[in-house]
Amino acid sequence: MSNDTVNIPPTNHVMVLDGQGWVGLVDQMGTETSIVNAARVSFGKIRKVMDARDAGLVRYLIANHHSSPLEHVVFTFLVHCPLFVRSQWHRHRTWSYNEISRRYTQEEITFFVPRELREQAESDRQASHASEKIDQEACRKIIDNQNKVAYAAYEELLAKGVCREQARGVLPQNMMTTFWGTVDLNNLIKFLELRDSEHAQEEIREYAVAIKQLIKPIVPHVAEVLKW
Ligand SMILES: Cc1cc2nc3c(=O)[nH]c(=O)nc-3n(C[C@H](O)[C@H](O)[C@H](O)COP(=O)(O)OP(=O)(O)OC[C@H]3O[C@@H](n4cnc5c(N)ncnc54)[C@H](O)[C@@H]3O)c2cc1C
Repeated sequence: MSNDTVNIPPTNHVMVLDGQGWVGLVDQMGTETSIVNAARVSFGKIRKVMDARDAGLVRYLIANHHSSPLEHVVFTFLVHCPLFVRSQWHRHRTWSYNEISRRYTQEEITFFVPRELREQAESDRQASHASEKIDQEACRKIIDNQNKVAYAAYEELLAKGVCREQARGVLPQNMMTTFWGTVDLNNLIKFLELRDSEHAQEEIREYAVAIKQLIKPIVPHVAEVLKW
């Protein structure tokens, strides 16, 4: 890799989904001093280093939902995830996204196979849990086979002259995709509250936990207040 390119996955990344997916931090603007400086704009001073009063101000802002100063900190992530995680993620409209396009690229297509298949919860349609009843190996094989059948159909369509933008319709939700996502800290906190939650699907939750790990060193006081 030459010095003028970004590694994929980026150097600062966390593996998720049993090593099949990852999220990396590729760019970042602002620090916690940006938050306190924006909050104190009326006082006409810019601080370069956080002190105890500044840490207290960060706590106050979050506790009192004075959230706009948090928007002066911005992160760009590169995400490698299954399509179904991508669909959930992209419901968060305050992010800016750019995703790999199967219309343009023949780049290697890979598929997610869950390490552990869960059972549907009876009481809650959104929930699932570990199960003794499921034959893990047999069910993983069904998924793996289906991924392969779908990919073979895709290849066959291309070989018969069908364009990529139509042939991709046979590819399953387990197909891995890669996208850039940029978001400010205020809206990222909202994303993390919703997606690192017991109500969220386990797979996207792993990404939310990984993002907390990536940004904690950059916003340590915010992380402390929010108990990350
Ligand atoms: C457990 C779970 C289950 C879900 N199930 C479904 C489902 O079955 N079907 C489905 O379609 N979605 C579902 N969603 C998605 C959910 O409805 C939200 O679209 C998603 O969580 C994004 O949340 P958000 O709007 O707060 O985020 P963002 O879009 O990032 O918005 C952040 C904040 O900006 C403000 N905002 C953004 N856009 C607008 C707007 N147009 N008008 C007013 N305020 C705005 C709001 O304050 C919002 O909270 C689910 C989400 C979760 C966490």
